Amino acid sequence: MRAMLLSRIVSLDEVDTPLELVDLPVPEPNPGEVLIRVSACGVCHTELDEIEGRTAPPKLPIIPGHEVIGRVEALGRSVTRWKPGERVGVGWIHSSSGESDENVCPKFQATGRDTNGGYAEFMTVPEDYAYPIPDTFTDTQAAPLLCAGAVGFRALKLTNIKDGDLLGMTGFGGSAHLVLQTAKHLFPHTKTFIFARDPAAREFALQLGAEWAGDTTDRSPQQLHAIIDTTPAWKPVVEALKNLRPSGRLVINAIRKEDADKDYLLNVSYHEHLWMEREIKSVANVTRRDISEFLPLAAEIPVTPEVQTYKLEEANRALVDLKHRPIKGATVLLIDE
Ligand SMILES: [Zn+2]
Repeated sequence: MRAMLLSRIVSLDEVDTPLELVDLPVPEPNPGEVLIRVSACGVCHTELDEIEGRTAPPKLPIIPGHEVIGRVEALGRSVTRWKPGERVGVGWIHSSSGESDENVCPKFQATGRDTNGGYAEFMTVPEDYAYPIPDTFTDTQAAPLLCAGAVGFRALKLTNIKDGDLLGMTGFGGSAHLVLQTAKHLFPHTKTFIFARDPAAREFALQLGAEWAGDTTDRSPQQLHAIIDTTPAWKPVVEALKNLRPSGRLVINAIRKEDADKDYLLNVSYHEHLWMEREIKSVANVTRRDISEFLPLAAEIPVTPEVQTYKLEEANRALVDLKHRPIKGATVLLIDE
């Protein structure tokens, strides 16, 4: 099978071809696993963190990719949930304890980091960590729901907002544009305020129904009950804290932060940014339940994912673009047969 393989940790500022197109044997599903013929795989910012070593794979080489859509090709022994031909998705959680805290437990294994992922024509996954995909979505539309959508949904839950509260988001890419649509559905009286440095992203947010959109350093017209940060940087975190009302919560939806602007944290004033019981909470990974709940919800809304597509063999260009260019919505690789 064709696959894009990561064999070494590199900086994308120095190397623009971190992955290599290779031909590998089709993997065999172990007992309890399904083999999936992949049709689409989203490109997530976490892949940059893997390639550049911020969350390095424990062993190399590895096939990245954790927003996978495909069809069940073959069943391992004792699989009962699936039949060949059924359309399924795979997210960041490849396997874990199955308990409610499986996203933070030591058994957590990440798709495309701890085990081979979806930048390939085939991959395997435990049957319990594959999900049915609602018919509403094409393969391309469905791919970003598996991470950008589902982890964003977890972040939205962790804000603890109730209907009518004011919600902010700093950064407006693959995840935030799905969270905005989800928030409007779950909390119809909640107004959303978007902070983004790219004018096109601000315009896109307003098109999707945001109440207001400003630059990263702007003050929102009202103080907000919660803000979700989907950026890799620190400046948006510090600036967002100024827009939180007392007891407000900032949820950082990122597996890793980059260090490039870490000095910006020296601008934190306890009085201005944190006092009055303002708090910061991170989002760690995702549970099977988050993804299982989010997919039918996304179909019910229905969310409309904005997607830029690349071919599998163009994965390097997709990654470099994700790092260096403003991208409208999410990025997806199409794996044709
Ligand atoms: Zn992801």
